[in-house]
Amino acid sequence: MNYNPNNIFAKILRGEIPAYKVYEDTQTLAFMDVMPQSDGHTLVIPRVAAETLFDLSTEELQSLIAVTQRIAIAAKRAFHADGMTLMQFNGSAAGQTVPHVHFHVIPRYNGKSLQSHSRTMANNELLAQHAEHLRALLNP
Ligand code: 5GP
Repeated sequence: MNYNPNNIFAKILRGEIPAYKVYEDTQTLAFMDVMPQSDGHTLVIPRVAAETLFDLSTEELQSLIAVTQRIAIAAKRAFHADGMTLMQFNGSAAGQTVPHVHFHVIPRYNGKSLQSHSRTMANNELLAQHAEHLRALLNP
């Protein structure tokens, strides 16, 4: 594995750049995607330095998917979503743009298609509101 420690999620994990965090534990961090594909789009990442899903141990993967499920359940409630899309890309050929493994948790709404991937920055106030809303359900 050739992990690049200067990727944007590694910087968020080290606290070098800010993020709208919604949940964290010893192994995992979840925060709002700054270019959401729908309202409430959240990212879930492991703290371990891993580029793709294939670089995780079984235990690391288990804790990541368990937290992803927890975030998805809370986000469905928080944003009154009709459904939830979970996405995960491995390698640039597959659409991965940030080389630190992550799950996308994307609320879906009837009749609404997804915004383009990694395209339009959301309003900071809206992201902060969404994060607060989700945090309240995840950390009661
Ligand atoms: P990928 O294309 O690697 O599956 O997804 C990377 C995701 O990270 C994209 O959805 C993109 O919008 C998001 N993203 C890129 N840069 C930043 C950032 O600086 N902060 C946050 N919170 N999300 C980011």
